Amino acid sequence: MTREKFYITTPLYYVNGELHIGGAYTTLAADILARWHRAHGKDVFFLTGSDEHGQKIEREAAEHGMAPKEFADSIVQKFHELWEALDITFDHFIRTTDDYHERAVGEVFKKLMDSGDIYLGRYEGLYCTPCETFVATSEDGLCPSCGRELERISEENYFFRLSKYGDALLELIDGNPSFILPPYRRAEVRNRVAEGLEDISVSRSTFKWGVPVPGDPDHIVYVWFDALLNYVTALGAPDDTERFRRYWPADLHLIGKDIIWFHCVIWPAMLMALGYEPPRTVFAHGWWTINGEKISKSKGNIVYPREVVSLYGADTLRFFLFREVPFGRDGNFTFEAVDNRYHQELANGLGNLVMRTASMITRYFGGKLPSPAVEDEGAKALAALASAMPAKVREAMERVDLGAALEHIWNVVREANRFVENSKPWVLAKEGETERLGTVLYTLAETSRLLLVELYPFLPRTAPVGLAQLGAEWDPLDAEPLERWGVLKPGSPVTKGKPLFPRVERPGV
Ligand SMILES: [Zn+2]
Repeated sequence: MTREKFYITTPLYYVNGELHIGGAYTTLAADILARWHRAHGKDVFFLTGSDEHGQKIEREAAEHGMAPKEFADSIVQKFHELWEALDITFDHFIRTTDDYHERAVGEVFKKLMDSGDIYLGRYEGLYCTPCETFVATSEDGLCPSCGRELERISEENYFFRLSKYGDALLELIDGNPSFILPPYRRAEVRNRVAEGLEDISVSRSTFKWGVPVPGDPDHIVYVWFDALLNYVTALGAPDDTERFRRYWPADLHLIGKDIIWFHCVIWPAMLMALGYEPPRTVFAHGWWTINGEKISKSKGNIVYPREVVSLYGADTLRFFLFREVPFGRDGNFTFEAVDNRYHQELANGLGNLVMRTASMITRYFGGKLPSPAVEDEGAKALAALASAMPAKVREAMERVDLGAALEHIWNVVREANRFVENSKPWVLAKEGETERLGTVLYTLAETSRLLLVELYPFLPRTAPVGLAQLGAEWDPLDAEPLERWGVLKPGSPVTKGKPLFPRVERPGV
């Protein structure tokens, strides 16, 4: 039986500097989902990469006294270091300067010129270089998205016949409720499409750093057109490759809400022009502010992932960003909030549960898992709640609701800790109620095990450590057999290890 495929992507990151928390956010979400789908039998292809062409990079490289490619190499190196530090398990990293991509962009452009979907015209209007975006109107001469000064340009341009695809796009949006997620982002895109679409410029002739238009090398392919194509060129398109046939269409493009127009309108129209299927889902998440303010390098209002990782570990960042706000909404980042989540939920909640369970089994049963020999009402209720959790997590993960998945998991963490307080195993031990104590501790061990199995995509470093303490088996590519109740066998060894989440003293607090 062939496994079902799951193709998940992040946007390409612009190589103009180190990625901050907001930049790492999408990639962390993609990694969590990729791990979850792999653990549930899917043949996952997880793509990320870097966007390296355009005037902005050309200028920035010049400021550093470097050639554009040399400058891009230095930044891409930093991306790789970050993805390693955050345990990102991408299957392929694409650079828009890769030979195969540049060649494919040229081929696609030629194909669309031949079919009449791309034609030569004249563009007169405003352009934001930092955003690499054409701006239709602006009263104050400033970019509506970044607030910086716009440049007026007038040049011969190639245009993409976007206007032709309005009806087909409306049909796509209306006929596929999960094409744009979360659902509350759908209406805005739909309304703008319904107002009518204009053809868009897809080339520039004021700089050199990019893919030349076939047969007219004074023109360079517009960076967005170039970058969007990565989702198919990474699979070998426009050649008819096995990889392309296997993985296209993308199951999930994860993006920030600022680039929803490119991904939900321009990109599917480009695909239609090429005769390719549109992606199944585009999920647009919200933005992070830092201490209530927009992330901005110039304001010095910026947090880099390494600052969190060096204090609390990569797992904490992976957990925090999806626990703190519902995935899709905007969120506010503060170190206080990270510290609270870490100590209250990871250390006192989950870590303490696993620690207490393992140490009581060590103390009262010599490190051998007792059997659940007698019935206990509380144990039965907790077992029922924990057994029902994997299905709830699945339902949440399938609709890309990472926050809901964590909430289902934390509901069980809370109940399990409450059960420890209510059942008072130390009293049972003192009174010699060994059988009941066995049931209580077995139930806690099995609940902890299930929690760690479900948390693995979020906590890929810590979960296996906790599972090993419980003597539990673990397979990152086959979690389903481990998601039922009763996998731990009485008599199996349990070891009390170090705390999963030791206390952290935050400097300067
Ligand atoms: Zn701008």
